[in-house]
Amino acid sequence: MHEYSIVQALIERVGTEASVRHATAVHRLKVRIGELSGVEVDLLTTAYTAFRERTICERAELDVRIVPARWECPDCGAPIGRGNRLACGACAVPARLAEGDEIMLDQIEMEVR
Ligand SMILES: [Zn+2]
Repeated sequence: MHEYSIVQALIERVGTEASVRHATAVHRLKVRIGELSGVEVDLLTTAYTAFRERTICERAELDVRIVPARWECPDCGAPIGRGNRLACGACAVPARLAEGDEIMLDQIEMEVR
């Protein structure tokens, strides 16, 4: 399942960061999930709860922030509203997705001795 591999990669990444910084524990992870990323947040948190056992993330909470999709013009940078035709009225070029398809680890709160 997609969400399981995301969580696996996430925990591996946090493990690397934690060992580089000689952290003794991780308290919280903040991730940003775009609404168009195809990630089911419920599945993600379920997968996380299962995978964090016996890892450095065992007691770390997972904060998920959902990022709404946002389009803009690739030429002039004008924002293009949802529900509009997905093209810039001034430049007549197709809109570009500026935000909303990302899966991003934003922040790790950890304890360093
Ligand atoms: Zn434009």
